[in-house]
Amino acid sequence: KVGKKTGVQGTAASFGLADGKMGEVVTRFPPEPSGYLHIGHVKAAMLNHYVAEIYKGKMLFRLDDTNPTKENIEFVDNIQRDLKTLGITWSSMSYTSDHFDYIMQCAEKMIREGNAYVDNSDVNTMRDQRLEGIESACRANSVEKNLEMWEAMKTGADQTCVLRAKIDMKSPNGTMRDPVLYRYSGQAHHRTGTKYLIYPTYDLAVPIVDSIEGVTHALRTLEFQDRNEQYQWIAQALGLRCAKVVEFSRMNLVNTVLSKRKLQKFVDDGIVDGWWDPRFPTVQGIIRRGLTVQALREFVVSQGQSRNSNYMEWEKLWVLNKKIIDPIAPRFVGIESDMVDLTLTNVDSTVTESRPLHKKNPAVGEKSVLMGPTVVIDKADATSFKVGEKVTLMDWGNIVIEEISETGVKARLTLEDTDFKGTAKITWLAKEAATQPATMIKFGHLVTKKIPEDGDDPADFLNPESKVARTIFIDPKQFAGVKKGDIIQIERKGFCYVDEVTEVGPVLHLIPDGRKE
Ligand code: ATP
Ligand code: MG
Ligand code: MG
Repeated sequence: KVGKKTGVQGTAASFGLADGKMGEVVTRFPPEPSGYLHIGHVKAAMLNHYVAEIYKGKMLFRLDDTNPTKENIEFVDNIQRDLKTLGITWSSMSYTSDHFDYIMQCAEKMIREGNAYVDNSDVNTMRDQRLEGIESACRANSVEKNLEMWEAMKTGADQTCVLRAKIDMKSPNGTMRDPVLYRYSGQAHHRTGTKYLIYPTYDLAVPIVDSIEGVTHALRTLEFQDRNEQYQWIAQALGLRCAKVVEFSRMNLVNTVLSKRKLQKFVDDGIVDGWWDPRFPTVQGIIRRGLTVQALREFVVSQGQSRNSNYMEWEKLWVLNKKIIDPIAPRFVGIESDMVDLTLTNVDSTVTESRPLHKKNPAVGEKSVLMGPTVVIDKADATSFKVGEKVTLMDWGNIVIEEISETGVKARLTLEDTDFKGTAKITWLAKEAATQPATMIKFGHLVTKKIPEDGDDPADFLNPESKVARTIFIDPKQFAGVKKGDIIQIERKGFCYVDEVTEVGPVLHLIPDGRKE
């Protein structure tokens, strides 16, 4: 096995190669453009990028577009956009389809040299025979017969045949039992149109393209372990240089579907708004949920070369994220829509004072705070008061509650009392300032099942409360500088990702902070 453990887990050098030569390492990130990038792809992309970087080598970016029925240009564009968001650069970009002619020549070479044959068995027979290790009747056909059937595949005259490698139907490794190398698809390809009617499988294309593009180290997830033997066999059968396979573990997260096919179904069924829905584990989704690229990077690097593919808890990521945003996110006040008036009986004028946007980080800047005789507070705070109690209005001073009635609360401001120990600290806004509604959305997991099993239909485990919106009121003057994409804190309510700033008001996505609910 080539990809030996050499790195130290959890450190910056957490992914080493047993035989990486400085300046010569070439890795590649090869997504199939059949969906947007998700957090599992982030791990693959970051590791490939990281390995190339530490060995001062190159990372290639390849769109693995061998299945026209699932792929399209929207996915190609968004994969590039997402890599840019992640700060991942590549030394060159290619498509597997750039090499379709060459791959076809390779297939023909294999047929002529007796390493591949065309099989016209039906799908079920082929599957049963592979399970039982029985050779197909077509396996004994002559090269001439195979070339004839191959021509019929290429022209679409026969649409049911497949090309198979002639390896070993008795191999204990099921992937060595004459895997399929080419199949027919009538669908137009997003780049090559109808030029080709047959397409290579992933199994055939990857070793060929890795070889001709100069990949030295092919990073693959452990699930592909069984396929490594086949990857080497194909390169050898074609006389091609074979990249070294380095394994890493798949990223799995609880309550999370990572299969693009299943994610596509959520999109098609209208369960989410699109691939960019904040409940989706896609790059665009999790960024809109408020996860920072830095937290993602730290999470991936901390896993490094660990072969553990256990299901990770999201909390771990959110805790990392909070450490990054807490020291820099500006603080604002937002009051719930069922607000209560609090009248300060000894205040008769309105003033504006400046306050830091972050108490521990003056660099974040300042906000102006309007202070007047009537302020609004959350109902939950108002109902907790008792007459005579001392309460602290944050950023202003202490008050003493004088009266609680149907119409609101009356209190006396006691600025001279600067002892804030043990008092309830509440948030407030001057009534004239709390004019701007903002939408605050809390998201939850899309699926309630912690570890979905193969064959589960995620639709059976949908969380009916995965998106809950409410309105809060903010001071529009304070929010004037807040932009789409910012991360802020609404004090005592949580960190928020500013998803939109519109005429009707900002849309804020609450960011989980890693505390279990
Ligand atoms: P999916 O099952 O979501 O469709 P895939 O493996 O078919 O994923 P590809 O586009 O072929 O998707 O993947 C591109 C790269 O990302 C591959 O190197 C693959 O191993 C890696 N990758 C995909 N999912 C994960 C994951 N959950 N964890 C780590 N790497 C992953
Ligand atoms: Mg794939
Ligand atoms: Mg897949």
